[in-house]
Amino acid sequence: MKKHILGVESTAHTFSVSVVSSDGEILSNTKSIYKPPEGSGIHPFEASQSHIASAPSVLSQALTLSGLQLKDVSAVAFAKGPGLGPCLRVGAVVARTLASSLGIPLVPVNHAVGHIELGCLLTGSKDPVVLLVSGGHTMIIAYAGKRWRILGESLDLTLGQLLDQFGRHHGLSSPCGRAIEEAAAGSNSYLRLPYVVKGNDVSFSGLLTASKQMLDSGKPFTDVSYSIQETAFAMVTEVTERALAFTGKSEVMIVGGVAANRRLSSMMSTMAERHSAKLTASPLEYSGDCGAQIAWTGWLAYNSGITVPVADSEVTQSWRLDGVDILWRS
Ligand code: AMP
Ligand code: MG
Repeated sequence: MKKHILGVESTAHTFSVSVVSSDGEILSNTKSIYKPPEGSGIHPFEASQSHIASAPSVLSQALTLSGLQLKDVSAVAFAKGPGLGPCLRVGAVVARTLASSLGIPLVPVNHAVGHIELGCLLTGSKDPVVLLVSGGHTMIIAYAGKRWRILGESLDLTLGQLLDQFGRHHGLSSPCGRAIEEAAAGSNSYLRLPYVVKGNDVSFSGLLTASKQMLDSGKPFTDVSYSIQETAFAMVTEVTERALAFTGKSEVMIVGGVAANRRLSSMMSTMAERHSAKLTASPLEYSGDCGAQIAWTGWLAYNSGITVPVADSEVTQSWRLDGVDILWRS
């Protein structure tokens, strides 16, 4: 018989609850996103207060939309990490409370694994080379031997941080990726910026500094936006291409908030074609942080026997995805 699992996401700026069924149908995916003041980044405590304020309405809306009642839920999954401590703790408290009061299992989920497994569910990818690009991650990943393995990553800022910090320097409020994409579409004037690939890793800090300096020296925001995108996206495409050639896999998948960017997809698609590989990207609604990534991965984990007693369910701020045993994949 079909089962239902409820997932709670609260690693950073998003508080989200989703109900997913055991056959992979997403019945609801409700979210509330904390917006920092213009020009500043996420303040962990302020974000956690916003999550506390929105938790009751997000939870009840997710249930209403799912058409279910709490008694119909078989297990509760939560994002155990990685993420910002104060934010993680809000989701964990909500999930523990539900699991204890309903007497159902609690399932810990790694947020990054959540992006990948939800991406596979929604795109139909089976065994992809993954480009995970978001506010919290920039990684090139592939599955081997019961783990998602990291084949390349950023040595400093994530791609989301690069775009958000650049946008904030221009006075935008985070997240800035979409506004930068729109500005970049109005230019095709490339300004030379630092392109830093070391082995199969990338580094964005020099690119950020140079881009800010260009804005300060009066270069148009559209041209610098175009140039930062061309440079950063070419860097991640290069290292993904190397991972694809090395592994010989036939699928490439982009997940995480930056997967929404059409220029990134277009560069990655040209690269994938060269290797006769199929490119997929998470649909817009599910590319950023959301409860569905936790609920669906929570179901896969729960179905493999992974649960945690409430008393041992502390959050883990630093938790690399290559340390997670993936019991549900062969
Ligand atoms: P996540 O951490 O997965 O929720 O992703 C959030 C990140 O995605 C932020 O850094 C956003 O600026 C970025 N983002 C969202 N939409 C776009 C877009 N269209 N282009 C580039 N980055 C984006
Ligand atoms: Mg994320």
